[in-house]
Amino acid sequence: MLIILLGPPGAGKGTQAERMTRDFELTYISTGDILRSAVKDNNELGRKARQYMDQGRLVPDDLVVDIVKARLMDEDGKKGALFDGFPRTVEQAVFLEKALPDLGAEINRVFSIEVEESELIERLTGRRVCSDCGTSYHLKFNPPKVRNVCDQCGGDLYQRDDDSLETVQERLKVYKKQTEPLIDFYRTRDLLSPIDGNQDIEGVYKQISSVLSDL
Ligand code: ADP
Ligand code: ADP
Ligand code: ZN
Repeated sequence: MLIILLGPPGAGKGTQAERMTRDFELTYISTGDILRSAVKDNNELGRKARQYMDQGRLVPDDLVVDIVKARLMDEDGKKGALFDGFPRTVEQAVFLEKALPDLGAEINRVFSIEVEESELIERLTGRRVCSDCGTSYHLKFNPPKVRNVCDQCGGDLYQRDDDSLETVQERLKVYKKQTEPLIDFYRTRDLLSPIDGNQDIEGVYKQISSVLSDL
């Protein structure tokens, strides 16, 4: 079983993924988290990826594809996988489509979370993330119980470098140009479930979980 979360930055992919992995047997695979941890470790991948991420641009396909290959080979195959933030270009989607038969896997559903642009900007600039476990919070819409402390693990919250207004605007542009075409890509393959992301977190999750329960 393979599920993909598609949607612009700030749509709520990570927030929904947290609930999906809590309730369904899915291994979470976020290329953004993997890249950020490589940057933190300052390893070869991190050194290559950093410049792109800081500018709000996409990391080159070959680097991202290598990450996903390694990650998929690690899987025990019993559980399903939940992709957040991958694929993000048509090239990545074509790679995945070609790689799946060898892995004995297929894509079961692609959720496209749709949110208005002004709301995305507010969500991203008010986002705070746990430095230990990656859980997303929002100053206004989803604050932690104790200020700046993660509810899940007690870690410190921080603001991502790329959540500044300027970089957010660039990321939204990049999304429109390079990632949005994937909506049609998956629609023509009959895999797309559009989700109205302009609702509160639990409202969005209700829509997603009802589709997932029927798979
Ligand atoms: P993505 O992974 O798509 O970039 P996140 O899940 O990190 O998005 O959510 C972006 C920000 O918006 C976070 O601060 C999160 O707490 C907040 N958020 C997520 N879903 C909603 C929602 N339905 N309504 C309001 N705020 C939300
Ligand atoms: P968000 O959902 O908030 O946009 P992510 O955590 O998914 O953020 O991604 C952060 C950054 O990591 C992106 O702006 C991009 O530079 C890089 N990145 C993540 N996933 C990919 C991908 N599949 N292809 C290329 N770059 C990626
Ligand atoms: Zn945490």
